[in-house]
Amino acid sequence: MPIQVLPSALAAQIAAGEVVERPASVVKELLENSLDAGASQITVELRSGGLELVRITDDGSGIPASEVELAFQRHATSKLQTTEQLGAIATLGFRGEALPSIAAVSRLTIISRTHHDNTGYRLELDRGHKLRDGAQGSPPGTSVTVEDLFGNVPARRKFLRSASAEASRVHELVAHYTLAYPAIRFQLVVDERSSLSSPGNGRPAEALLAVYGAEVAAGMLEVRGEDTEAGYQVAGFASAPSLHRANRSYMTFFVNRRWVQNRLLAFAVEEAYHDLLPERRYPVAVLNLTLPYDQVDVNCHPSKREVRFHQERRVYAALQRAVRAALVAQTPVPLAGRSAFAAGRQSQAVPAAASDSFWSRAGNGPGEVPPAPLSQRGDRGDFPPPPGAAGPRQDLPALKVVGQVKQTYIVAEGPQGLYLVDQHAAHERVLFDQLRRRADQVLSQSASPPMEGLLEPVVVELTPQQAELMRASGDRLRGYGFQVESFGEGSYLLRALPSVMGGKDPAQSLKDVLDLAALDGAMTAQEDALAASIACHSAIRAGKTLSESEMRALLEQLEATDNPHTCPHGRPTMIHLTEYQMEREFRRR
Ligand code: ADP
Ligand code: MG
Repeated sequence: MPIQVLPSALAAQIAAGEVVERPASVVKELLENSLDAGASQITVELRSGGLELVRITDDGSGIPASEVELAFQRHATSKLQTTEQLGAIATLGFRGEALPSIAAVSRLTIISRTHHDNTGYRLELDRGHKLRDGAQGSPPGTSVTVEDLFGNVPARRKFLRSASAEASRVHELVAHYTLAYPAIRFQLVVDERSSLSSPGNGRPAEALLAVYGAEVAAGMLEVRGEDTEAGYQVAGFASAPSLHRANRSYMTFFVNRRWVQNRLLAFAVEEAYHDLLPERRYPVAVLNLTLPYDQVDVNCHPSKREVRFHQERRVYAALQRAVRAALVAQTPVPLAGRSAFAAGRQSQAVPAAASDSFWSRAGNGPGEVPPAPLSQRGDRGDFPPPPGAAGPRQDLPALKVVGQVKQTYIVAEGPQGLYLVDQHAAHERVLFDQLRRRADQVLSQSASPPMEGLLEPVVVELTPQQAELMRASGDRLRGYGFQVESFGEGSYLLRALPSVMGGKDPAQSLKDVLDLAALDGAMTAQEDALAASIACHSAIRAGKTLSESEMRALLEQLEATDNPHTCPHGRPTMIHLTEYQMEREFRRR
């Protein structure tokens, strides 16, 4: 083939591929435009995962009628004029590529009205060609409707996943922006159903609640820090060490409120949690770095997802210190090496004092005396081992209840010292083991699912994400005691709940379990994630007073589990202070 310049329509399609990969990338570009336009309300609508329709409506500045058509020319932008400005970009967009790229691979309608004009202007394009335009009544702001996305690019369509999977990605994206912009009211409507809605009242904690729900929100700590000399600020949320995940995808970073992917930032956060999380577990974090615009290069990737920092180490240190400070200030258990951080030192080494720390985590602590062998059990004759507790894997000695602290922790004494047991985490472990064992029996048909029937079946409306998980793991859920049937699109009929969940709001319980399991979706096995979610939802909470016999029963059940030292999410169920440690702390040795 001789060399020839590509026809412009084909060149536009190729260029569009860099910017618009899937419905979520369309939403990202349009959202960024709405944010740059100073919107205070942004609504995103999707039909069929965005393939049939994506619509974004904002109440931002609007585009003057005379400029709307121009906005669809490649490299047409109102955000950049000189090369100097490229070195300090303050807007999310600047490349002038999004609108022409999206228009090249869809049927697009834009309606826009500025706040000075009395009427709006409407322009319709098909695969980049103008169909019609004219005046159109509309409120101030802009709405862009994208239909039949990639209808003319079958190769691209083939790489897309199911409508619900694409909707999930959009949900994740809108959720991230909701967190970064708490003063903006976001609405996401998927197939006519509200899938996310934030109050937009400027309070980060409420945005967090809208996105992650009460359980996760309650486990997050506020992070604030700065490097005044460099003009850096760090703000956001990071999970308390008790909340963690199996992969890094729950760490979300913004640089000047631009959502970015950057390994360095993830490393900095992981470093802050260094000695606080079980191995191969990662925190949940949503953090924004505010940097002088000239300290960050945002023009190194077509979809602007990657950025480069001029002073990498300094950014790293600021982030790591801010997160660590939040952990130190707000975590109830004294941290190893606390003094080094409290004094503001930037040391990243694991403090050598770790093994000298006052409390060590049971089973995890360096220099831990190994637990007593089984033969030592029962040397306090007052609590016989529970039936079935004996076995070689048993590594928790029999414990005697001393009391309860803050209605949250059980204080117990064992042959090797003092134990502080988290009642919720311990109960989670007990329930998780019971659920998994019973589900295996259900599978081998030697038992029926442990369920409690409802007097009246309940219709439950699921979000696209919840419904996708439901489709993928309905059988598992039935094994644990949920009796559910499909009841039309996105709706399910719930007839029974796992018996451990008896007495709770049935519809909410199902949704909570799906949400929790989705958060843990990357755990080794889906069935574990579901069982862990049911256990978490059903376990006794912190703040509940327990009688002595309840505490004793819980400890006995915990002793009988396969893995009494951690809850199903991997966080510790107990802290152990050995006799040796006590003697050392009191200088008896
Ligand atoms: P960029 O955002 O890189 O400038 P785009 O192709 O995304 O390029 O948009 C082109 C121009 O159209 C923008 O610079 C802006 O002036 C205008 N524009 C696009 N979307 C909106 C919107 N929602 N509200 C106001 N102006 C918009
Ligand atoms: Mg843009």
